[in-house]
Amino acid sequence: MNRLSPMWHAAGVQQTMREMGETIGVLQQQVQVLLEESERLRKENEQLRELLHRAGHHPSLQHHDHLLTLYHEGFHICTVNYGQVRAEEHCLFCLAFTNKMTHREEP
Ligand SMILES: [Zn+2]
Repeated sequence: MNRLSPMWHAAGVQQTMREMGETIGVLQQQVQVLLEESERLRKENEQLRELLHRAGHHPSLQHHDHLLTLYHEGFHICTVNYGQVRAEEHCLFCLAFTNKMTHREEP
C-alpha cells in the first residue's frame, strides 16, 4: 500500500518532472555537441576525399612516367617481356601498353 499522503505524492511528481527537465536540458546540450561533431566529421571527410582523389591521380602519373622512362632507357615495360633489355628499336607490346596507359588517363 502507498503510505505517502497526496501532498507528498504531488511533491514527488514535481521533483520527477524537475529532474526530467534537467535531463532534457543535458540531452539538448549533448545533441548540440553531437551535431557540431557530425559537422566537423563531415568537413574532415570531404577534405580526406579530396586528398584521396588527388593522391589517386599522382601515383599513377608517377608510375606512368617511370614506365615510360624505363622504355626509353631500352627496357621492356610490356607484360610479355617486362624488365628485359629491348633488343629491337620498338616493341609493339610495349607501344600498345603505353597507348593504353595514355588513353586511360584522358578525361
Ligand atoms: Zn615489350
